[in-house]
Amino acid sequence: MQQINELRELLQSPKKIMITTHHKPDADALGSSLGLAGYLKKKGHQVTVITPTDYPSFLNWMSGNDEVLIYSHRTDAQAKAIINDAEVLFCLDFSALSRINELGGYIREAKGTKVLIDHHLEPEPFAEIMFSNTSAAATAELVYEVIRDLGDEELIDTAIGECLYAGIMTDTGSFRHASTTRNVHLIIADLLHKGVDICKIHRNIYDSYSESRLRFLGYVLKDKLTVVREYNTAFIAVTSEELKQYNSQTGDTEGLVNFALSIEGVRFAALFIDRTEAVKISFRSVGDISVNEFARSHFSGGGHKNASGGISYLSLAETVEKFQSLLPLYAEQLAK
Ligand code: 5GP
Ligand code: MN
Repeated sequence: MQQINELRELLQSPKKIMITTHHKPDADALGSSLGLAGYLKKKGHQVTVITPTDYPSFLNWMSGNDEVLIYSHRTDAQAKAIINDAEVLFCLDFSALSRINELGGYIREAKGTKVLIDHHLEPEPFAEIMFSNTSAAATAELVYEVIRDLGDEELIDTAIGECLYAGIMTDTGSFRHASTTRNVHLIIADLLHKGVDICKIHRNIYDSYSESRLRFLGYVLKDKLTVVREYNTAFIAVTSEELKQYNSQTGDTEGLVNFALSIEGVRFAALFIDRTEAVKISFRSVGDISVNEFARSHFSGGGHKNASGGISYLSLAETVEKFQSLLPLYAEQLAK
């Protein structure tokens, strides 16, 4: 309540606002950012969304996408100026400044008021105003609640609603994860009332594969999947050459890890992608196995209990070897 009052006070007069989100934004990261941006613009603020990297083209339909500033060495000076000038800096869908690369340092130094809206575990206390709820299904759910609690629910129109819907739909795994509460469905009911086209959004995000992405999926499932029955674990490791061979674009590996977890009996899944500069890892689990803890302890990462990520500077083969050597330490949890 106090946080909402502070935010209301802060947004009382038109402000210069910057919104950012995590590295390689997904639908929740971008959808919550663009949904919030749409709302703040309607309130008369000057708003810029800056992403630390590019994001999948299957998110380009979101309203406000055309004005997003994607950070790169080319846009560095422009991004720095916007961050320095901003009176309010919203940080969405990440809990540590290290998750946003160079932008993290700029934001740490920025003079404006920082506002965090996020649902990841163990938030770093860098923001003056924090809406951190680790039991929320998505940051988009929290953005909806913040707008509602500011008393502006009626300003959520179809375009803003579609951005928020995309975030909630993807972070709940299309309303199947344990995070899918009654509250989530009540918010979705309201978004439907605002005219959100759920068929269009589902198709834009899930049924918009390029031919090479679908052939890449076929190849990976046939040749790159390892099942370790003893530990109810399955993993996929992809080399940088394979990414090149299938002309892999940002977002093309999204969702791959879920195929490994979809095998009967498998309770722990991992995806290793050789991004040349480092190996990027995704972890997924079912039930009580905490992949957040696993990623934090062994791969400098984090996230949620059943969905987390990390990074490794070893080679792809060494990373996979390290992963396999850790499994016996978790034998008891994995056996259940
Ligand atoms: P994904 O596997 O889809 O990239 O990420 C799954 C979840 O883990 C997301 O909530 C994401 O924010 C988080 N995550 C992914 N990679 C990292 C990482 O390197 N560090 C931390 N702290 N979280 C990560
Ligand atoms: Mn999220």
